[in-house]
Amino acid sequence: MSDLPNRVSLREVGPRDGLQNEEPVATKAKIELVDALSQTGVGRIEAVSFVHPRAIPQMADADDVWAGIVRNPAIRYSALVPNLRGAQRALDRGCLEIEIVVSASDTHNKANVNRTTAESLDEISQVIDLAHERGATCHVTVSTAWGCPYEGDVPVERVVSVAKRAVADGADGLSFGDTTGMATPTRVTRLVGETRMAMPDVPLNQHFHNTRGTALANVLAALQLGVADFDASVGGLGGCPYAPGASGNLASEELVHMVEDMGIDTGVDLDALINVAREAERIVGRELPSQVLRAGPRTRRTPMP
Ligand code: ZN
Repeated sequence: MSDLPNRVSLREVGPRDGLQNEEPVATKAKIELVDALSQTGVGRIEAVSFVHPRAIPQMADADDVWAGIVRNPAIRYSALVPNLRGAQRALDRGCLEIEIVVSASDTHNKANVNRTTAESLDEISQVIDLAHERGATCHVTVSTAWGCPYEGDVPVERVVSVAKRAVADGADGLSFGDTTGMATPTRVTRLVGETRMAMPDVPLNQHFHNTRGTALANVLAALQLGVADFDASVGGLGGCPYAPGASGNLASEELVHMVEDMGIDTGVDLDALINVAREAERIVGRELPSQVLRAGPRTRRTPMP
């Protein structure tokens, strides 16, 4: 375990990825959620998606949320964009860190954005150029990296070749998204290992879903290969779009709790984060799947059974 990183960076994706997959909530509540997260010590927050309101009604107020956030200068606030038009919109609003997703599976990519993976990669190349012209960065997430809801297994070679193309076109960082919660540690080791061999220096984030209970095991597998950058969602906000009622995003508290106890610094105050997770439950009006939210931090004194 001695090769584990001594610090892990968490990109909090609850306000965007999480809320996008919940029933719509009020603009004010979204802003309050981002502002509360801004006080927990997280370094990065994916705040909104600049997507057409018809495509994703939950993000129809992205302009107002983006403008309404009380910015903590220590935090990088990012926005997801679906295409060149969305990138233009984000950059016009002063966003300095944009994210864009491409699916390694053609079927999934077509279902999402009505284009083949190759067509999306062509547009992403233009998005990266535009971001760089405007002094912003562009991070690319390859989704369905461990499995597609339509195609099943996605070959590692295919995922790596999509990632390589994005990096060749200038992507500032890569993420692999376990869109369907199909990753297991062996699969993570293989994909991350092959990616590291092909591109040793590219910043690499992992976006795990806990749909089948493997998210933290996958984090450990990635940590053992030196990955020190993970997405997670406060409370585990955002269900699984392909399995109603199932959980989606790894909960931020679960990530922070585990790695901090392993001696890895996250900079995040776990108690503060748990309080925000409780607030997130109130906002969406349902119990969230985070187990650390249910159990509390390990130092909490609870009566013996
Ligand atoms: Zn997600």
